[in-house]
Amino acid sequence: MAKVSINIATGTLQQEELIVGIDLGTTNSLVAVIHPDTRQPVALKDVDQTTLVPSILHFGEQGSISVGHSARPFLETDPSNTIYSVKRLMGKSYKDISQNSGFFSYKVIDDDSDRLVKIQVGQKFYSPIELSSYILAELKHRAEHVLKTNISKCVITVPAYFNDAQRQATRDAGKLAGLEVLRIINEPTAASLAYGIGLNQDESKTIAVYDLGGGTFDVSILKLTDGIFEVLSTHGDTYLGGDDFDHLIVKQFIAQLGLTEEELHTHKALAQTIRLSAEQAKKTLSDQTSFSAEIGGEKVHITRDEFESLIQPLIEKTLDSCRQSLKDSGLSPADIETIVMVGGSTRVPAVKNAVANFFGKAVNDTVNPDEVVALGAAIQADILAGNNKEVLLLDVTPLSLGIETMGGLMDVIIPRNSKIPSRAGRQYTTHKDGQSGIQIAVYQGERDLVKDNRKLAEFTLSGIPGMPAGLPKVDIQFILNTDGILQVKASELRSGIAQTIEVKPQYGLTDTEVENMLLASMTHAKEDIQLRALVEATTEAEQMLQLTENFLHKHQVHITEAEQASARLGMTQLQDAIQGKDKNAIMAATEALNQLTTPFAERVMDIAVGEALKGKEI
Ligand code: ADP
Ligand code: MG
Repeated sequence: MAKVSINIATGTLQQEELIVGIDLGTTNSLVAVIHPDTRQPVALKDVDQTTLVPSILHFGEQGSISVGHSARPFLETDPSNTIYSVKRLMGKSYKDISQNSGFFSYKVIDDDSDRLVKIQVGQKFYSPIELSSYILAELKHRAEHVLKTNISKCVITVPAYFNDAQRQATRDAGKLAGLEVLRIINEPTAASLAYGIGLNQDESKTIAVYDLGGGTFDVSILKLTDGIFEVLSTHGDTYLGGDDFDHLIVKQFIAQLGLTEEELHTHKALAQTIRLSAEQAKKTLSDQTSFSAEIGGEKVHITRDEFESLIQPLIEKTLDSCRQSLKDSGLSPADIETIVMVGGSTRVPAVKNAVANFFGKAVNDTVNPDEVVALGAAIQADILAGNNKEVLLLDVTPLSLGIETMGGLMDVIIPRNSKIPSRAGRQYTTHKDGQSGIQIAVYQGERDLVKDNRKLAEFTLSGIPGMPAGLPKVDIQFILNTDGILQVKASELRSGIAQTIEVKPQYGLTDTEVENMLLASMTHAKEDIQLRALVEATTEAEQMLQLTENFLHKHQVHITEAEQASARLGMTQLQDAIQGKDKNAIMAATEALNQLTTPFAERVMDIAVGEALKGKEI
């Protein structure tokens, strides 16, 4: 294995090596790199000469998995085994997405809880992290094939509005694909870099980045000061994009063909043909003023004028977001010095014109809008590789910092390579009724189990007033100052009790030790993530068992003997599954027990509510 050497002060790699930039998109993903000869960023092509990899996965019958163009036809022909838009699920619980669950034609596990979503394909359960890792692995493979070298490091972009959990999920997906994610950067920042904005240390500027992709829209206002980007505001609509444009054209076409939407539900192949033809029409109308084609011997037709009036309300919606984000940052259109266009859908001339009119100046659209984010990520990767010496890097922390959570897992609060100073926090709760203290153990390292990391400190937040499990809100804040001193603050928000300790994260570690810790995390990435998934499934299963046990005990009188017996059987099966240490079996048994007990849990709750209301006036 190649020796990795990193500079402790900057977190950068000292030897020259190719680090790729990846745009992991909702609709399309791609990988780019700075060409070693030309020093220009280039997006890498596959054998078909296309740079875009559709973010689609298909699970075949024999356990084969196809990614990208080859998976696409299965969207219509095998929808339950074809996964798209997995980016929408990253770091999300079912509660987060329940309003939009109708959007997904594959099975998203619906247990109406705060737990992270899982996707069921056949007998197997996948997390969005695993699914994204297949796309990343495909990109890694493509890069290795084209560049004829091993690729183990990358920069991945995420939307500016991604929260901590979504960023962490993206990082984990990279790890699972065998990639060390040197940095997660914001898509609008990457797009700006691709236009050369931010490469000059003395530059200061206010920028708007307008990103209209396949299924999502966002606009971000960035402030660049001395080479550092700050997101002033971001707004958007995560269910608005080019797919909606296609849909409006589909409607016009089916009217011209004398069909109804209902008829198309039963004619999948025809629906597919019309949809593809609509997308073709849209793309053609970006360069030409009309489009016509034949579908099943009948003519369909649309002009650019017709298309523009169809999409006008959608364009207006995006401008509302622009208005809102200006308002949030306290700016007016005239304060925006540069506008950057991102996303395939900004090729539509009406979109470009509307944005230029709104801000009152010409937009930047010379870089390919569906590659611009990946190209910027490649520039950032090159800076991290130390090849671009003029660009100063901020100090970063070389190893991740976090705390121990249930099952001995490492919960990262400040990820490796975060800039210093930095501050991050998260909320936790208790898992036992009346728990008065919570133990906080602080660790440093990249492994998923704390036992493989380095313990920095441990303390107890005590004096929490008696509350049922899950009610206390324990807020943990990590504050890493410019000297690399970490302050950990723990407070229980309902009662206001608080405690703080100080630790020196890198204290006593040599460069070689840090290197070894990083190498170990790469070598063990796969088993770590599998183990993490098993620990999480087991913890969930144990909670489910405990809940069921409590429930059966408390509501004995309302539950029939047959129900008791079937619940007991489900519990035994779940206990056996836990013993078996197979993640998929545990999740299936948890889900089965959940399905089994939900009907009588609902009935008992109705009775309980009825009793509580009896004799009370409302
Ligand atoms: P995402 O960032 O969501 O992964 P992309 O930036 O790759 O998405 O944008 C994909 C969208 O761009 C699709 O809806 C696609 O139809 C649209 N698109 C691609 N080329 C054109 C074009 N020439 N004219 C109009 N729309 C286009
Ligand atoms: Mg995109």
